[in-house]
Amino acid sequence: MTVSTLERSHRRVAVRESTNPYENALHQLEIAARHLELDPGMHEILKYPQREITVHFPVKLDNGTTRIFTGYRVQHNLARGPSKGGIRYSPKTDLDEVRALAMWMTWKSAIVNIPFGGAKGGVLCDPKVMSMGELERLTRRYATEISILIGPETDIPAPDVNTNPQVMAWIMDTYSMHRGSTVPAVVTGKPVSIGGSEGRVEATGRGIAIIASEAANQMGIPMAGASVVIQGFGNVGSIAARSFYERGAKVIAVSDAIGGLWNPNGLDIPALLECSHRDGTLTTHKGGEPITNEELLELPCDILVPAAIENQITTANAHRIQARIIIEGANGPTTPAADRILYDRGIFLVPDVLANAGGVVVSYFEWVQDLQSFFWEEAEVNKRMEQMMVRAYKSVADIALRKELDMRTAAYMIGVKRVADAATTRGIYP
Ligand code: GLU
Repeated sequence: MTVSTLERSHRRVAVRESTNPYENALHQLEIAARHLELDPGMHEILKYPQREITVHFPVKLDNGTTRIFTGYRVQHNLARGPSKGGIRYSPKTDLDEVRALAMWMTWKSAIVNIPFGGAKGGVLCDPKVMSMGELERLTRRYATEISILIGPETDIPAPDVNTNPQVMAWIMDTYSMHRGSTVPAVVTGKPVSIGGSEGRVEATGRGIAIIASEAANQMGIPMAGASVVIQGFGNVGSIAARSFYERGAKVIAVSDAIGGLWNPNGLDIPALLECSHRDGTLTTHKGGEPITNEELLELPCDILVPAAIENQITTANAHRIQARIIIEGANGPTTPAADRILYDRGIFLVPDVLANAGGVVVSYFEWVQDLQSFFWEEAEVNKRMEQMMVRAYKSVADIALRKELDMRTAAYMIGVKRVADAATTRGIYP
């Protein structure tokens, strides 16, 4: 990598390590804005979420007491269509995290060219210590509180960290009860029995393996036998592991929130999936050496997939990452300061807004199917998703190569430009 290339890619914007996701999202936007020579007024518009609400609401707990919970829904931008994005349940979420996640959804939808803006929701809670009944009451009340924002034509939630098809079913049912008729298109990621799409549960993980194949191909690494390390074994990480395994790659390490397992000869992924399903963790499996989440990130491998949460690759460990390719399964796993270190070291990183877009692509298909009440076969869903992901990958890689940029900046140039063009064409009201 020559210095002039680096100058072009990053150095014009001073970077400071931060673990505030919104600060980091703004920083990434600033880099793209400079490369696009974006109008300063438009840049200013795109920095801010268009709408955000904070809700505090009571939930009756199983022990008879009542607790107040806090939740958020942020709509970053609606220029290209209704806003779209998941809802996460986490003891650590806050408004800045949800703002960043909403902004990333705006760019993600634009990069894969689906007609959505970006949004995200979060509820501060620890679902691991809550009963099903408590989770249902929390979900229904939160859905009611944010019902002034959500709707099939306005803002469509989906699963994210610690939420799942059942949570989406409760949101759909709550919204429908208020309306007095069934409204499947108000959320995506629902169970198939109530209007969910075939292939939606697997879409994000599958999309990651598709993007990883494109990246490996570009780097001249054969997927068969490629060594893969995956942090996170939730809906994204576990399905990604299965998809890599099915493609003949050697998954040598995986982890969940408790810890990880490492086997340089390759892990038995079907057995690990069964173990994680049965025990609620993969750490009880005997087929590998125990390893911490921190150690896992620094293992030598061809492909590293951080598929857990934000801020996993920072200035504290970016120098020690030994992967050749990083595919961001999580949203925001790499800080901008770490991005620069990885780029300097020649590590090829495919950013979240492209790498994990398979989920929202199939969410789009689910929404279309719900609106038409016409449902597709899984093979059709998978084929169309793959087409959209490969097309998006190629357009990003093409800009990265032509302009000698990192893949994040190239992806942002496409996404931010599409959003800015839509906003400019529509004009400022009134
Ligand atoms: N939460 C997922 C994401 O971050 C999916 C969003 C959606 O399907 O709307 O992309």
